[in-house]
Amino acid sequence: MAKIMDGKALAKKIQKKLREEVEDLKKEKIIPKLAVIMVGNNEASKVYVKNKSKACNEVGIEYEEYLLPEETTNQELLDLIGNLNARKEIHGILLQSPIPAHLNINEAFEKIDYHKDVDGFHSVNVGNLVLGRDTFISCTPYGIMKILEEYGISIEGKHAVVIGRSNIVGKPIAQCLLAQNATVTMCHSKTKNLQSITQSADILVAAIGKEKFVKKDMIKPGAIVIDVGINRQVDGKLCGDTDYENLIDKAGYITPVPGGVGPMTIAMLMTNVVKAAKNVKD
Ligand code: NDP
Repeated sequence: MAKIMDGKALAKKIQKKLREEVEDLKKEKIIPKLAVIMVGNNEASKVYVKNKSKACNEVGIEYEEYLLPEETTNQELLDLIGNLNARKEIHGILLQSPIPAHLNINEAFEKIDYHKDVDGFHSVNVGNLVLGRDTFISCTPYGIMKILEEYGISIEGKHAVVIGRSNIVGKPIAQCLLAQNATVTMCHSKTKNLQSITQSADILVAAIGKEKFVKKDMIKPGAIVIDVGINRQVDGKLCGDTDYENLIDKAGYITPVPGGVGPMTIAMLMTNVVKAAKNVKD
């Protein structure tokens, strides 16, 4: 029976510690502050943004929200980011994706001052991650690494297989695992013989966006399975990218959905905002 890796409990623990750090910063008249921009009316984004504001509240981070209409122009979005960049009391800026298709999301991410890029999407921060320098690591991969650490999982020498190569999850988690001396294989929609690759994974990260995609016969007995997916099923319930119920008696460790990677993503966002505030102080 797999050990369930409780991301929710770990996120709580991290946020409790952050609250103390924020209290200390406040004594030095530094109040960490996050600005969140959302464009349009994406229902899932609204939930994510609400969870982020709730976490800020719990940790003691000040929070400012910009809800822009669907018809916002590229220039209006860039101007807002420019204004937020210029405001010293704002330490972190987050642009919630997705944004409407007529806007250039890459240009917007690049416009964010990389010192305030608490999502770790700016090319400077991505480059620093690849080079092994101190940086803002994007929140989901950072959260996964913290879960592995919390459960005492040694990464060195392990075969880590990542399914998915997005800029926000797949590529940076592969980089993080490589930095900890895993042997990393990256898979995507054009990968051939996926099952034979996943079957040799000591650590398997599923970041695909397809309901229960990873089946029992795709994993090795005792594998450490990290499920990043958030999929809404027809009955309205959430499920991950792995067939969790059937993997549970074969995997060694597994993250649940919900309650695994999701809460850790938010906890690491809070960590990055506090880091950004401390960087200003130093
Ligand atoms: P993307 O859609 O950007 O990327 C999905 C990746 O999966 C792509 O690289 C794609 O390959 C690959 N893929 C698709 N189909 C297959 C297949 N049949 N076989 C192998 N690979 C395949 O998704 P994200 O990385 O943004 O997100 C992945 C999931 O994680 C989603 O469910 C999302 O909601 C969730 N998520 C959860 C977070 C959390 O906090 N828990 C945070 C961010 C995302 P290709 O590149 O070839 O198209």
